Parts: sequence; structure tokens; C-alpha cells
Amino acid sequence: MSRMQQVTVLGATGSIGLSTLDVIGRHAEQYQVFALSGFSRLEQLLALCVRHRPRFAAVPTAAAAAQLRAGLREHGCSTEVLEGEAGLSAIASAAEVDVVMAAIVGAAGLKPTLAAVEAGKKVLLANKEALVMSGALFMDAVRHSGAVLLPIDSEHNAIFQCLPGDYARGLEAVGVRRILLTASGGPFRQTPLAQLAEVTPEQACAHPNWSMGRKISVDSASMMNKGLELIEACWLFDAAPSKVEVVVHPQSVIHSLVDYVDGSVLAQLGNPDMRTPIANALAWPRRIDSGVAPLDLFAIARLDFEAPDEQRFPCLRIARQAAEAGDSAPAVLNAANEVAVEAFLAGRIRFPEIASMIERVLDQQPVVPVASLDAVFSADQRARQLAGEWLSRHDR
Ligand code: NDP
Ligand code: MG
Repeated sequence: MSRMQQVTVLGATGSIGLSTLDVIGRHAEQYQVFALSGFSRLEQLLALCVRHRPRFAAVPTAAAAAQLRAGLREHGCSTEVLEGEAGLSAIASAAEVDVVMAAIVGAAGLKPTLAAVEAGKKVLLANKEALVMSGALFMDAVRHSGAVLLPIDSEHNAIFQCLPGDYARGLEAVGVRRILLTASGGPFRQTPLAQLAEVTPEQACAHPNWSMGRKISVDSASMMNKGLELIEACWLFDAAPSKVEVVVHPQSVIHSLVDYVDGSVLAQLGNPDMRTPIANALAWPRRIDSGVAPLDLFAIARLDFEAPDEQRFPCLRIARQAAEAGDSAPAVLNAANEVAVEAFLAGRIRFPEIASMIERVLDQQPVVPVASLDAVFSADQRARQLAGEWLSRHDR
């Protein structure tokens, strides 16, 4: 047996972070928690430190660090506390670390995730926004550093499992006709269109199949999540947007499929529980127990499929256009969406306005090349500013 793997969990207090720690906890002889990060849920982070005894914990500010240190002292826990962006990058790239789970939500995850990639780590990518924002730079960094990038998003993990080991030769070279990206359709798949303007954040966050953080839950309800995943798939598997088709599959049992030129279609199935892709990526290329119950096909009995309704889900069309436009467009899409989702969760805009606001910001911002991280962040900042202006006009 090889030595213990040292794992950093970025975004440990979130839904993916907790599922990761659950899987790690089942294999304490193989994985040791090296570092954890949290942002606002400091009590939760303290409890995780007490349970997993990491060498380091990272928090956003000096005040948060002081609070966490006091708690750690009370529990006799020797975890060292680091602060700010520098702290996150340090725990993502430390020499002792083997595996980094990138599970911070949104653009805030880009720098630490990239730090892990540049340090050549095995990177388990949940933070899809990082890849959407900076796809070309991100994948270049993976190639240069020799990092091992493994997808955690259930669909991308499924596609990864259905592809041959040498898929990096090119999808065409390995006989792939297209990728079929499945989508549940979220909580509003059948809500009468006229009622969408009245739906609440609580309804949007009540996903029928998955339990997730609030931002991705709203993205799932608007199907922007599938749009971001389309862009994510294009980068991960070097596919043109036209090669990725979205299939609505309400049961979330098939997590995605790969269609080959000989007519074979390979799918990955499982209960909708993120511990499966997490365990798959953590142990890859081996398999370990994830704690997920075996799939009971008799209980499921049937699997349904339908085409996505673009009138109901305009975000999917908008994201596909941004994928085709390339360059800065996906970063702008992502930033405008982050502002829109936050505004919806805060009760400032109605659900259908998420799409209108994003489309307006994309229309206002020319597509420019993004050859550096600075260019990515300047596109991101400009989009946030335009989205903020849209919001203040809207509030008046
Ligand atoms: P959560 O909201 O549950 O967790 C987000 C994590 O990021 C928390 O640890 C949070 O800290 C931390 N965080 C939030 N804002 C910041 C910030 N500005 N700086 C540093 N850390 C921050 O989200 P999920 O776990 O659901 O999702 C995480 C990522 O994984 C997302 O990119 C999502 O798209 C992706 N993903 C999630 C899936 C799921 O099933 N949940 C499925 C597929 C992908 P704190 O809680 O302490 O504030
Ligand atoms: Mg997904």
C-alpha cells in the first residue's frame, strides 16, 4: 500500500466539502486531511478541525482567523490558521499536499484552484465556475504543470468514466460522435410558465433529486447550471459546443452518456449522491466504497428523457451562445449570473429576470481575448459593474 494521501479541501464547510470529508472519513487509513477552508460558517469549520485535525485551516479575514484560533485553543487543537487569498493558495499548493478538492463556489475559487493546478496536484474539480471563466488558461496550466484534473461534477465524472483512457488524443480519434449531458430539469420543469415570475428562493433551492448549496440550486432551477456545464464539458474534453447535447432526464439516475460512431452509447448510472463522483476521483484509477447505497433498478422502474424547453430555460440558450462566442464571453456570463443569483436570493429580482439581466450584460460587453488572468478578472469585474448598474436601474 502506498503512503497516506494528504488532502486539502477548499470549501470544506459546503455541501461538496462535507461529502468529501464523509468519503475521506471512511478511508482514514488512506487519506489524511492536510488543510480545510471555510468562509462564513466558522462554527462548522471549527467542528471540522476538531474532528479531522488538519495541519492548516484557511479563513477570509484576520477577524475570522482570531475567532477560529480562540475556538481551536478551547478544544486543544493545534491546527494553524491562515488568512485571505494567500492562505487559500498556500494550502492548495503546499509541497506536502497530494490531492486538492476544489469546492469553493463561484469566481472566488479560481485563484486557489489554479494555484493547485500550477503546483501539479491531483485536482478534483467541483468549482465549475473557475473553468468556465478561464478555460483556455486553466487547461494550459494543467498541460504545463502535469496536474491530474479529475471532474467532480456528476455529469462530467460520468462522461470521464464513459470515455477511453486515451481520450486526450481527441474525441474524434477515439470514435466519439457526441456527448449527451443529462439534466434533471430542476424544480420548475413543469411549473406553468406564467407562475415562474412568482417563485421564491426557497422553491428554487428545493431541488427534486440533489441536495446542494444555494447558488448551484438556483442555477439548476434556471438551467444556467447546464449552460455552465456545457462550457465545462467543452474544456474538459476538448469538444466543440455543437458536440454536446443536453438531454432532460428527470430521475437523475443516468449522469451522462457518450455516443460513439459505431452506434454504441455508454452511460454511467447511480443514485444521485455526490459521494460517488467524489470517491471515483479521489481513488482514481482505483475504486473505493463511497457510502452510497446500491442502485435499485426495480425501485426506479423507468427512466424518462425529453428535449430541453428553451422558452422555459432561456439561460441554456444564452450559455450556449457564450460558449460559441468564446474568449471573454463565458467569464462575463458567469459573473453576470453570480450577481443575478445573489439578487434573486436576496429578493431583489424575480426568477425570470435572472436571464434578462445576464443577456443584457452580455449584449453590452464586447467579446475580447482573455490571454491572462488579469484579462479574465477585468472581464469579470466589468460584467459585475454592468450587472450592478442594471440592478440599480431595476430597483428605481
Ligand atoms: P456551498 O454553498 O454548499 O459551499 C460553498 C463553499 O465555498 C463553502 O465552504 C463556503 O464557505 C465557501 N465559500 C463561499 N464563498 C467563498 C468565498 N468568497 N471565498 C472562499 N470560500 C467561499 O456550495 P456547493 O458545495 O454546493 O458547491 C461548491 C462548488 O461545487 C460550486 O462551484 C458548485 O457549482 C460545484 N458543484 C456542486 C455540486 C453539489 O452537489 N453541491 C454538484 C456539482 C458541482 P462557508 O460555507 O463557510 O461560507
Ligand atoms: Mg452537475
